[in-house]
Amino acid sequence: IRWTEGRGWHDGQLVPYGPLSLDPASSVLHYAQEIFEGLKAYRRPDGTVATFRPDANARRFQYSAHRIGMPELPVETFVEACDALVRQDEAWVPPHGGEESLYLRPFMIATEVGLGVRPANEYLFVVIASPAGAYFPAGVKPVAIWASEDRVRAVPGGVGDAKTGGNYAASLLAQAEAAEKGCIQVAYLDAVEHKWVEELGGMNLYFVYGNRIVTPTLTGSLLAGITRDSLLQVARDLGYEAEEGRVSIDQWQEDSANGTLTEVFACGTAAVITPVGTVKSARGEWQQSGGEPGEATMRLREALLAIQTGRAEDTHGWMHELGGE
Ligand code: PMP
Repeated sequence: IRWTEGRGWHDGQLVPYGPLSLDPASSVLHYAQEIFEGLKAYRRPDGTVATFRPDANARRFQYSAHRIGMPELPVETFVEACDALVRQDEAWVPPHGGEESLYLRPFMIATEVGLGVRPANEYLFVVIASPAGAYFPAGVKPVAIWASEDRVRAVPGGVGDAKTGGNYAASLLAQAEAAEKGCIQVAYLDAVEHKWVEELGGMNLYFVYGNRIVTPTLTGSLLAGITRDSLLQVARDLGYEAEEGRVSIDQWQEDSANGTLTEVFACGTAAVITPVGTVKSARGEWQQSGGEPGEATMRLREALLAIQTGRAEDTHGWMHELGGE
């Protein structure tokens, strides 16, 4: 779907997958005016297909657009475009039973030809899809993460709470450093005090203190994850006290050592929930829940996946059903 100043959204098309043709002076290639989303379609026990909270992705996409000077795509248009692609690619939605899904990647780029530094006057919105396997095909295993005390992902007043490609470009070197240390992702701290835990490069974090579950407060420099938001509600449904709060890196290390911090997990669309087993940092290395997946982590993981795959009742009205076979 294209957007042109003065004309708005027009020319939505469903076309076979293939290369995009762009003028070398298209503004996205120079000033990174690009935003994206990620969401999944799951097969349900009765063979039909449903996407998980596409309206929430659509609203976050609108916020991201607004934040970097792009036009807002109506929520219904976003959801209809995803629906049209899922219906077209229905055969690629894996069978019910596992954690496999069809991953959707909506994105928008500035296509205006010209090198002026200002919001463009032409855009292209696209959705592509790819089957996604289970994140842990051989059983859930805790991962190691690298807590970086020097590199930052986002600054106050910046675009950390928008899902724009530039945030990820800025994180790639730190991500490569984490990989060299045997870690799957970087845990970032706030950019002012280098003290408060924010999120991973591509997931939000949760800290489990027995029955109390805490996720870092949305300060403006971390992404408002849809899995994060869903888990606040699922955790309350399961009887946990779930809240937003601030957790410092000192507290993380100390509370792990004294055993009050019983589990830590990361969450996001791709992996749903990933237990954190080991934390590595310049100040040393420590373990969470004896390096095993914790009980709360696994209960929450199962509860959310059961809703997503249609094994449990959708009490929050999160699943968007599309029909199917
Ligand atoms: N933080 C960042 C930086 C991310 O890229 C993602 C993945 N979209 C998340 C958190 C988790 O968000 P969600 O649950 O909406 O996938």
